[in-house]
Amino acid sequence: MTPHPDIRDLSLEELTAYLRSVDAEPFRADQVFQWIYQKGAWGFDAMTNVPKGLRDRLKKDLVLKTNEIAQKLVSEDGTTKFLFDLHDHEKIESVLIPTATRTTACISTQAGCKFGCKFCASGIGGWKRNLSCAEIVTQVLHVKEEALKHKRPLTNIVFMGTGEPLDNFINLMKAVRIINADKGINIGARHITISTVGVVPKIRELAQEGLQVELAISLHGYDNPSRDVLMPVNKKYPFDELIAACRDYVRKTNRQITFEYILIKDVTCTPHAVASLKKAFKGIICKMNLIPYNPVSEFGHQTPTGKEMTAFRDSLEDSGVHATIRTPRGKDVNAACGQLRHAHQ
Ligand code: SAH
Repeated sequence: MTPHPDIRDLSLEELTAYLRSVDAEPFRADQVFQWIYQKGAWGFDAMTNVPKGLRDRLKKDLVLKTNEIAQKLVSEDGTTKFLFDLHDHEKIESVLIPTATRTTACISTQAGCKFGCKFCASGIGGWKRNLSCAEIVTQVLHVKEEALKHKRPLTNIVFMGTGEPLDNFINLMKAVRIINADKGINIGARHITISTVGVVPKIRELAQEGLQVELAISLHGYDNPSRDVLMPVNKKYPFDELIAACRDYVRKTNRQITFEYILIKDVTCTPHAVASLKKAFKGIICKMNLIPYNPVSEFGHQTPTGKEMTAFRDSLEDSGVHATIRTPRGKDVNAACGQLRHAHQ
């Protein structure tokens, strides 16, 4: 182990192994996990059913601290955006999104983003680094704490903050398992969504993980040329390869996939686009989440009118593709999809 690792970088199995190595009973791992992930402990001294000697040992070997909250912005719709200042002063954002039926945490997986999609603010400052497992789960803990202040237990996690989750695969998988564990944050796998730009080999790897998580694909193009223009990743993993990987994923996991499709006026929200999508998605059982483009000042795009967007949705639905329009949340505090960015604004 590196000196003073963060205890939240350890899986339950790793924590158990560590406790064995210091001659503590393995069941202490469950207790410690519950203190951190269920009872909101931000320090070892809070763990009152753990013997003092062991707490001292934990303090000596491991760290447990908050992500520093640099800013907290509350939108008029109740969406709350956190800006965290990490130990090396990289900044990341997380969002708490309350709705009538859910309380969702939108979590970042990287500081910055290397994928440079031509509508998303997160890529503008470039990529800085992967987040550790601890930095990922600690965002969830902060959002959960805030939600509980409003008597709203956290119900859902979406990895739709800055960065590309599947480009930080190992830390993501570890974090997902901690979030999902019944001794951990205890959120059902089906309530955890991983969203990807379409890193094809990692989609195939994810299918092997045996997790019942939701997979969302940021599609955004209606065919190969249009996706090429909007998402540079398409040059590496073209449209057809992505769709083929999705078909295989569904076959292997028996899970439905959600496709995210951004509606940009005169670019992706056109009759030609809808016709092309209908062709590509013939026979694929999936959900299509239509995301109205949220303005990012660096890009010249515009949001289509409500009428254009509903016509687009209705046309997809007519052809048997189940489509819904996502309501933007937290736009006034730049917390909506595509508005999270690396640098503090
Ligand atoms: N890198 C992953 C995780 C980020 S998810 C991914 O791309 O899937 C963020 C979601 O918001 C993605 O579906 C993204 O395409 C979408 N998005 C990005 N910029 C947007 C914008 N300006 N308006 C609306 N949605 C946007």
